[in-house]
Amino acid sequence: MSDSSSRRKRKAQIRRRQIWFTIVVVFLLAFLVWYLVGYLPARNSSQESAIEESSTAQLEESFVPNSLAEETSSAVEESVGGGESSALAESVPEESSPEESSQSESSLPEESSGAEESSPEKEVDEILGMEYVTVDPDATDWNLLLVNKTHRLAENLEMETKQIFSEEVDARIYDSLVQMLEDGERDSDRQFLVCSGYRSVDFQQTLFDNKIAEIQAEHPEYTYEEAYIEASTIVAIPGASEHNTGLTVDICAMDFQMLIEEYEETDEAKWLKENCYKYGFILRYPKGKEDITQIIYEPWHFRYVGVEAATEIMTQGITLEEYLGEVD
Ligand SMILES: [Zn+2]
Repeated sequence: MSDSSSRRKRKAQIRRRQIWFTIVVVFLLAFLVWYLVGYLPARNSSQESAIEESSTAQLEESFVPNSLAEETSSAVEESVGGGESSALAESVPEESSPEESSQSESSLPEESSGAEESSPEKEVDEILGMEYVTVDPDATDWNLLLVNKTHRLAENLEMETKQIFSEEVDARIYDSLVQMLEDGERDSDRQFLVCSGYRSVDFQQTLFDNKIAEIQAEHPEYTYEEAYIEASTIVAIPGASEHNTGLTVDICAMDFQMLIEEYEETDEAKWLKENCYKYGFILRYPKGKEDITQIIYEPWHFRYVGVEAATEIMTQGITLEEYLGEVD
């Protein structure tokens, strides 16, 4: 009797040990599976992002071709002689307005186009497969600086800025801008709002990098190149946005603050389109010229180019690219 009960006890003990053993093995297996499925890929992706950070650094370097910038600027300094500036001073039109005086040393784009003489080397945006030149801001008249997807700034421009609404603009366009908005509002219900102005290249780079990171977080399967391409359709490539020049403003109406095509129907947009050239501004991305500007129609985006250029551009219905002869 006692024998069989002690045997039963031992059996129960063995069974309990087996159960514990099974629990421990199952637990270990579960841990192993968790490690392989969850933890390892997480480690890998953090390694990948480190690799991609280094490729971003390379990319930024490719945006700043120092040797090229130095070459072109020295070539331009040589080509801009003292005689030329006096010729430019003589060319100020008789009916010169206050805006024009600020533009006096900077008219005659064809004659003073040092950029063409130095013909900067074309670089290739290897990800987008797009050729572009790095513009040298000192090589052209400040008000005719061309910045777009194929003409990029390598770094921040040095400029004095002034605040209008909560935005900053190049101080040299401030008076013309204020005059335009004041005249546009006078004796009318029109009320303007400057909703975007100067953005530095560095800030644009931050925006762009953040967008890439955001896309990669959403799509861990994307390569850096894929994320870059997608980011470039949402945020302007650093140095390729005209807002990097400080010469550009997005102007909307107090009671219509959406940057959509329907803005063109507002009194504010109509008045600006009609009158902007008198103050040296142009509607930079007109309808029907998208293939040249490579930017959608933007009835809110105005760019300062000076009264002379603006008059020609707006009366002929052309773009800044066409005015400067920079159309392929
Ligand atoms: Zn804009």
